[in-house]
Amino acid sequence: MNLSEIMQAAYHKDLAACSNAEIYAALLTKVQKMAEAKKHPQSKKKLYYISAEFLIGKLLSNNLINLGVYQDVREQLAACGKDICEIEEVENEPSLGNGGLGRLAACFLDSIATLGLNGDGIGLNYHFGLFRQVFKNNEQTTIPDPWLTRQSWLEKTDVTYEVPFRSGSVTARMYNINVTGYDSTTNQLHLFDVETVDESIVTDGISFDKTDIAKNLTLFLYPDDSDEAGRLLRIYQQYLMVSAGAQLILDECTAKGCKLTDLPDYAVIQINDTHPTMVIPELIRLMVARGVEMDDAIEAVSKTCAYTNHTILAEALEKWPLTYLKQVVPQLVPIIEVLDDKVRRKYGEEKLSIIDKNDTVHMAHLDIHYCFSVNGVASLHTEILKEVELHPFYEIYPEKFNNKTNGITFRRWLLHCNPELSQWITGLIGDGYKKDATQLEKLLAYRKDAAVLEQLLQIKDGKKAQLRQYLAKTQGITIPENSIFDIQIKRLHEYKRQQLNALYVIQKYLEIKAGKKPARPITVIFGAKAAPAYIIAQDIIHLILCLQEIIRNDPEVNPYLNVVMVENYNVTKAEMLIPACDISEQISLASKEASGTGNMKFMLNGAVTLGTEDGANVEIHQLVGDDNIYIFGDSSEVVVKRYADASYCAKDYYEENPSIHEAVDFITGEQMLAVGDAVRLERLSKELIGKDWFMTFPDFDAYVKAREQAYADYEDRQAWAEKMLVNIAMAGYFSSDRTIAEYNKDIWKLDC
Ligand SMILES: *Cc1c(COP(=O)(O)O)cnc(C)c1O
Repeated sequence: MNLSEIMQAAYHKDLAACSNAEIYAALLTKVQKMAEAKKHPQSKKKLYYISAEFLIGKLLSNNLINLGVYQDVREQLAACGKDICEIEEVENEPSLGNGGLGRLAACFLDSIATLGLNGDGIGLNYHFGLFRQVFKNNEQTTIPDPWLTRQSWLEKTDVTYEVPFRSGSVTARMYNINVTGYDSTTNQLHLFDVETVDESIVTDGISFDKTDIAKNLTLFLYPDDSDEAGRLLRIYQQYLMVSAGAQLILDECTAKGCKLTDLPDYAVIQINDTHPTMVIPELIRLMVARGVEMDDAIEAVSKTCAYTNHTILAEALEKWPLTYLKQVVPQLVPIIEVLDDKVRRKYGEEKLSIIDKNDTVHMAHLDIHYCFSVNGVASLHTEILKEVELHPFYEIYPEKFNNKTNGITFRRWLLHCNPELSQWITGLIGDGYKKDATQLEKLLAYRKDAAVLEQLLQIKDGKKAQLRQYLAKTQGITIPENSIFDIQIKRLHEYKRQQLNALYVIQKYLEIKAGKKPARPITVIFGAKAAPAYIIAQDIIHLILCLQEIIRNDPEVNPYLNVVMVENYNVTKAEMLIPACDISEQISLASKEASGTGNMKFMLNGAVTLGTEDGANVEIHQLVGDDNIYIFGDSSEVVVKRYADASYCAKDYYEENPSIHEAVDFITGEQMLAVGDAVRLERLSKELIGKDWFMTFPDFDAYVKAREQAYADYEDRQAWAEKMLVNIAMAGYFSSDRTIAEYNKDIWKLDC
């Protein structure tokens, strides 16, 4: 590619004279052409990965890398005094996901294309994404996060479908985003939108008239569902996605000459969590409308659909009152009733039913009965599904259950976000690891090589210096040199236990005030968005922001301890933070984090995990061994049992453990009340002492001990570098290429 020629053709001027915005626009056009030229040829069977979220991140660098021209472009730009990172700043990040589930879908699309599989994504085009987080008065506030610009990666098509709601039908239009594979073919992400959506109805932050469906359908991802109109809107959104998606799938199959009853030979549909579940009755409805017998349609659809479970949190399993479905999509109700009736006749057990005795529809049950595969996302998670949460279903369908441990794409989470590290790896073991991640194990040959370990430490220091500069520039924070970076970035949820980390910070603060100083400055970084309707999560953000302020203004403490809460955590922020991390906080309550993928990104970038035996941490632990991870806390068995016999009493710990008592009392102490909101702080304190539903107190002492041990070990720099190296070397298993190869071998069975 000759950038000078491209710029001359586009703007009739020299590359050096072009603005970053002009270069970005020209590169985008060029990359789109290159991607088009590599379109995957149509083959008989195709995978449709249907998901309410695709947290894809910025695409320019990723596409340049996958098309094999990144180095070339970077060098040509540099020769004219341009920095590719600044050009990428022109791009908006589409916030089409909440967190891990949406980011997983994006990693999967990358790997599906890279492995040359015939598979597209199906989702929705939310104009304002999730929301943009802005901190004000130590609280989270939310504003729209518009990302669509006149020219973007999103391409309008002339494909439209009518989607019938009870209130009238809307026209869904398909937009496409090219998904480039690494040194491979291009697939598509199809995002549906409706033309009547009106961005001007959003007022006062992210509020809008939830009842005006035609105007609001694709404004936001998962609008606040704390009220009925919000919940109904979710059903509208989900049905828009699945109805348009199902019509697309049937059209593509029939265009290939498929008889509808042969659907499973032409299509496999991976349902990402329960949000797209209505695709099952919708496909049945459409097939019946096209002349297929109901029973034949049910059989064909069941052999086409596969379901991925992402959570065992009861409150996160979707259940819809039948009345809601009657109000929004009455045409699906008789079909769901037939599906429920068949299950009842066959198994006759209430707990297996789809529609329960309160007329509530259990979406996960619908999936399990009418999909041919049910998978969990890490081995521990799949075991808990089989043995506990979904045990009655496992008893009747043992053959459906399988595990697919999550993964991440190494193109984005190593090559793109940490070019320094990937060059170092290439220098040592060649670049075979870019296509076969297990080759990273060859690094183990260097685990005792002092010179190599020293280079690794220098790379980490370089990434930390970059992050320090970035935080100084964007958030006005100065972080002491030489400090250890201890990072917890993920959605805010009580089960992820940011509050446990905050309690540690309080204890450390009090220790420093009492004269006990750490060996080296500690920087504790948080990044997290909280759902607007999730009050306690907002309170925890408030707690962290107040701690940040107190410490920042305390010259006795801030040479030794700092707290940074990064605003608007998203993929771009993650790409800055992860390469700079020393200690990766993965401290969910055992049994509650299905897998986690943040843990994998950190490991790959040479951070050492401090975590519970939960989700994929279990597999990280097995791979790196006891010496290269810090595991603490009660096991999932203990936790599951403690819930089952309701034996946990937070107050007892508060009364009997002086460290816990002191740290919790600080939350409502004078210093906090001076900077914070009494209602929030008192509510949070009461929640902890009176309930602590995610059991932070029983793990507190073990957490403090493990964290202090990690900090102490960090001081032996060479021994620490060896831990870093072992983590990088063993991260290959967590490549999403491995995950996708397993999905294909066991579930999709597409030819390569
Ligand atoms: C990877 C990622 C997540 C998931 O993080 P977990 O720690 O696994 O919850 C969430 N948000 C963003 C932006 C990510 O990149």
